[in-house]
Amino acid sequence: MKLNIAAIAGAGLLLLSACAQPPATPDAIEPNPSTRSAEALALSLSEAIRFETISEMGNPDASRAEFDAFRDWLAASFPLVHARMAPEDILHGSLWYTLEGTNPALDPIVILAHQDVVPVEPGTEDQWVYPPFSGTIADGYVWGRGTLDMKGFLVMAVAAMETLLEEGFTPERTIHIGFGHDEEVGGTGAVAMAERLEAQGRRAWFVLDEGGTSIETFPMTGGPVGLIGVGEKGFLSVEITARARGGHSSSPPPETAIGLLSRAINAIVDNPFEHRIDHPVPDMMRALAPEMDGMAGFVMARPVLFGSVLRGQMMEDDATRATIGTTIAPTIITGGTVANVLPQEARAIINLRLHPRDSAESALAHMRGAVSHLDGVTIEPVGRISDAPPISATSGRAWEIIAGAAVSHLPDGAPVVPNLLTAATDSRAFKDVADHIYRYAPMRMEMDDLSRIHGDNERIRIDALPGMVSYFRTVIHEAGMEG
Ligand SMILES: [Zn+2]
Repeated sequence: MKLNIAAIAGAGLLLLSACAQPPATPDAIEPNPSTRSAEALALSLSEAIRFETISEMGNPDASRAEFDAFRDWLAASFPLVHARMAPEDILHGSLWYTLEGTNPALDPIVILAHQDVVPVEPGTEDQWVYPPFSGTIADGYVWGRGTLDMKGFLVMAVAAMETLLEEGFTPERTIHIGFGHDEEVGGTGAVAMAERLEAQGRRAWFVLDEGGTSIETFPMTGGPVGLIGVGEKGFLSVEITARARGGHSSSPPPETAIGLLSRAINAIVDNPFEHRIDHPVPDMMRALAPEMDGMAGFVMARPVLFGSVLRGQMMEDDATRATIGTTIAPTIITGGTVANVLPQEARAIINLRLHPRDSAESALAHMRGAVSHLDGVTIEPVGRISDAPPISATSGRAWEIIAGAAVSHLPDGAPVVPNLLTAATDSRAFKDVADHIYRYAPMRMEMDDLSRIHGDNERIRIDALPGMVSYFRTVIHEAGMEG
């Protein structure tokens, strides 16, 4: 997925939220420095980047040899994880690891990451400072496709697990690690892994996936902030079909298929979905307020009192508006092939990104209602549909572990705030088999790194890598030993 913190931070008013009370902070569990130094972790990630594990829509075998080689590399590089957690191959590519806990009454946790990466856009190869699959280590970074999205996360998570096993970690709670193989082209692997969990009669206490990170210089506060994804949007495309009499264009009826289609699209766009500031936005604003000066801080500290002002500001910007409501984007239109012939049909595709408050079903009903006065217009869903998972809690023990570990890996006093992603992650496949879904790794990014994700010159800071390992160790250890 594409991290979209810019979409949250861009306008200066975020769509984040935070716990009003800072969570309890567990002691960070440091990585074993002898085996997991920043340099050693960078080398490991550099090797991982060299596997061109590119997923291709409709062609699951496109990079099969690369995925197989990457799997062998994982087994060789993290031998204890391989031996003790016996990865199952799911759907010829996804890897599902299990470390059984000693107490079967405890629900497992799931750490998710995807092995696949997006291709380098043809024609942009020259814009990379270092070749995208070289895994070059230079200038304090590991460079290459997948460093941020998301082999950095993947390698640091498995390295964390390896170090815990080296130390004899025996959790009470079962730990699963799932590495999908096709997140960028649909995520069938994640769906199959969630089904695997369900087939075992299990339900996850929480899932931890990509989607949130730490930002070194956050635009609103000028300092570091941890952003934890507590929700993401759903996905629905619909086809609008308008039918009218065809014939010669010299004697058209009052209503043509193309005219009707245009009116239908306008009717839908002119009936937007509700946009509202609700959970977890007010909490987030309160958490960021102390970091902000003057009137901005005063207003942010009182998000209910100033709700209409804040909503008005968020509605002004495309990025922030997208985080508080379901978006409507007409993307394809077809109809007619000859200049003097009236088509009998015209069609359009509209892509919606569903806010958690709107289901695919309710969104469909909303749009049908908007065109109900137009005879000859039908609306049907096309392609994959995914409802947004519910927004996860920003209180309770699971949140305390996830957010508390984030606090302990940020400079003192830096706020940790939840946000709603406008992009999708593999974790959505677990929405019916997990109590909570969180999205976070402390990658210490700068805002301009965001454009490198799916773009050129993707890179990750080497000095962030030990903190990522430590973060995953803390989360796995805390959750694993939580009785
Ligand atoms: Zn991703």
